[in-house]
Amino acid sequence: MKHAEPGNRALGFSPGRRLQLMMDTRNDPYRARRKPRGELLCPDCALVCREGRWQHGAANTQAHSHRCPACQRIADRYPAGTLTIEGSYAYEHRSEVLVTARHVAEQMQVEHPLQRIMDIEALDGRIQITTTDIHLVQAIGKSLLHAYGGVLKYGFAEGQYQLRVDWAA
Ligand SMILES: [Zn+2]
Repeated sequence: MKHAEPGNRALGFSPGRRLQLMMDTRNDPYRARRKPRGELLCPDCALVCREGRWQHGAANTQAHSHRCPACQRIADRYPAGTLTIEGSYAYEHRSEVLVTARHVAEQMQVEHPLQRIMDIEALDGRIQITTTDIHLVQAIGKSLLHAYGGVLKYGFAEGQYQLRVDWAA
């Protein structure tokens, strides 16, 4: 007689694995949108899209004007990532913390120009950072944990390309 192995099953569906599957950029509805054929030029940030990939560079004169997924999210005010920073240590050191967060975003920009910080808001004792992609919000959260300690938590819903990260220190 076979016994169920809840332990193994639980391992297979651990949040880490679910998070990994969910973070595939093919799940991002903003990237999956139908685009005109040929080369595209974003009118807002001047990124160029060739063969489905948005990059820095010069566009052909025949390039179609089409908003990139990051600028479209900014225009819609619809972030993919939300990071909440809480705790007295974090709040007292907020200027350093924000320098760290911006530094992560700048580094990410080089290779992944669609990963951007949208807004940084201070709301009594808390700071909220929104981003155009979930990989950036995860990277910022990890860097803050690595640099200052504290506690990092993730929140996401099945089937949605959105990630909440809460960091408290
Ligand atoms: Zn753009």
